[in-house]
Formats: sequence, C-alpha cells, structure tokens
Amino acid sequence: MIEDYEEIYRLRKLLRLKSDGECEQCFYCGVPAEEKEHTVPISYINDLERLRGLGLSVAIPEQKIVPTCFECNRLLGKKYYGTPNQRKIELKVLLSDKYRKLIESPDWDDDEIVEMNGRMKEYIVIYQEAKKLIMKRLSY
Ligand SMILES: [Zn+2]
Repeated sequence: MIEDYEEIYRLRKLLRLKSDGECEQCFYCGVPAEEKEHTVPISYINDLERLRGLGLSVAIPEQKIVPTCFECNRLLGKKYYGTPNQRKIELKVLLSDKYRKLIESPDWDDDEIVEMNGRMKEYIVIYQEAKKLIMKRLSY
C-alpha cells in the first residue's frame, strides 16, 4: 500500500483545491483543471493530413480544446479515442484501472476509525478521502 502514498497525497491536495471553487473543472473528471488538452491529439491530425497529402480522402475530426487536470491529460496521452465524450468514457476506464486497488479497498466507519491510532489511523483517513475523490471523479 505504501507505494500509493505519493499519489494519495497529491489527490488530497486536489481535494483541498476543489473547495476553493473559483477555477475551471477538468472536462473528464471534474477536479480543478491545471492544463488544456486537444480532444483530437495533434499527432493524430498530422497523420491524417499526411494521408490527405498522398491524395486519400480522409475526414479530419473536429478539434476541441478542453480544460483538464494533469492526471487525465497524462492518462489519455496522444491516443485518439473519438469524440470528446468517447474520450471521457475511455478516461473513466483508465482511471478505474489505475486506482483498482483503492476502489476495491474496504470502507471504514467513523466508529472504527475512532478506535484506531497513530500512523495507521492517519493512513486510513487519507485513504478514505482519496477513495471518495476517485469515486466522485469516476461518476463525473
Ligand atoms: Zn481530470
């Protein structure tokens, strides 16, 4: 579980940012956006234009630029997944694969957490927060 610690702290920071409200939300998961993303990767459009240059009739998909968080942008990368909404669906698959262990981890009641102490308690509280955030991002 320890190897997830860094990512959990990053998610926790995002949770805090979110309560600020003011910023744009990630098109894919709803957390505060940190970047902009082309819904059709530039490299994919370049490939299609090369084909056009060879005389093939290929349709270039409509390009949109959407606000994204760092993680969604990295997960989606340079791969073409179709329309922005298809891309959003694919993101949910990638995100749930990445956080499978967290998603499948047990839920703790407040009563159970109160009885714990030290590092273990701290860890479980952070883990619960992170799980809540992931579930929220997946249902966005
Ligand atoms: Zn996102």
